[in-house]
Amino acid sequence: MLPIKDKFHLPEGLIYLDGNSLGPLPVGVDQVIAAMARDQWGANLIKGWNVDGWMDQPTRVGNQIACLIGAPSGSVTMGDTLSVKVYQALSAGVRMRPDRKFILSDSGNFPSDLYMAQGLIQQLGQGHELRIVAPEDVSDAIDDDVAVVMITQVDYRTGRMHDLVTLTAKAHAAGAVMLWDLAHSAGAIPVALEETGCEFAVGCTYKYLNGGPGAPAFIYVRSDLADQIDPALAGWLGHEAPFAFEPTYRPAPGISRMRVGTPPVIQMTALEEALKIWDDVDMQDLRAASVALCELFINEVEARCPDLTLVSPRDAAMRGSQVSFAFEQGYAAMQALIAHNVIGDFRAPNVMRFGFTPLYIGADDVLRAVDVLEMVMSKKLWADPKYQTRAKVT
Ligand SMILES: *Cc1c(COP(=O)(O)O)cnc(C)c1O
Repeated sequence: MLPIKDKFHLPEGLIYLDGNSLGPLPVGVDQVIAAMARDQWGANLIKGWNVDGWMDQPTRVGNQIACLIGAPSGSVTMGDTLSVKVYQALSAGVRMRPDRKFILSDSGNFPSDLYMAQGLIQQLGQGHELRIVAPEDVSDAIDDDVAVVMITQVDYRTGRMHDLVTLTAKAHAAGAVMLWDLAHSAGAIPVALEETGCEFAVGCTYKYLNGGPGAPAFIYVRSDLADQIDPALAGWLGHEAPFAFEPTYRPAPGISRMRVGTPPVIQMTALEEALKIWDDVDMQDLRAASVALCELFINEVEARCPDLTLVSPRDAAMRGSQVSFAFEQGYAAMQALIAHNVIGDFRAPNVMRFGFTPLYIGADDVLRAVDVLEMVMSKKLWADPKYQTRAKVT
């Protein structure tokens, strides 16, 4: 039964609606990190790579992630940041279609994904172009010139959600490679990745998967392609025989070729423990609870805060696990809200964003959050100059 609040450390009295940016600390993870440092790193030193299974950890944790996104065992590996994994997948995808010059994405994509595409294009120097269209125009923009369709399923700003199956089918019908970014999908909504037939998927683990700040990203490659693709970042741990120390790169078989360098063992130990929470969570239950929380929030805010304008899709089927409202003074209003123990976040230019994670948010939390939001709005608390100064991270 959700929520399972006792599985998380959450400060007393705080309502945390920002698990879409950084998930909270799961109970037990802090002890596991401390024990790992003491008993593995501290006691075993370099032997830890073998005796504590550090070297196989990216594969092991990748399999845990695979279970959560409907991918087969052995199709996912871990490491680096999401931006790096986007670059790897995109470059491999572009090389699969050497006669095509377009990468297609949408204006709802997270900027880092677009920047990685721009950097890759520049690096290749072969006249590729990034075509960015509105989210609703992606399907129609897929044509025979597109090498890779690179889309983030759930829009970080609005929560608008693409359909994995239909868009992948459209891309394939036009002969394009499909790359999905699941940053706001993994752990937020049910994903049946293998069924879509997409070639690549990537995502991060510090958002809905609660792996902690800096937790490693994941990358999926469709099983039939894993032995053929060109990994682009030819690091030694993606080599077929890293400890042969050969002068020439040879890619490892399967998904392991998407590894680059030394994995972040401490961080991945935290993630491995954090992922155990999902053993007892049914994704369909999670989705139903998430939809109920989002609906409740939208209804209450629209009834009680007339100055806020919904920018998320009204239809739950079109929405991920977050709800966003536009307000001219959104940054200051969010600061006022945070000062009153309700944490959401702000995305330029005017979006107040609220993530709903049924693992630790219940209907009572939604109602209390709206009480505070109503107070901030009706008393115009946002007008206080102390809420107007922007911090480095919004
Ligand atoms: C959160 C997010 C990122 C962040 O990338 P990092 O390299 O992990 O900082 C990238 N892309 C999308 C779509 C995201 O939502």
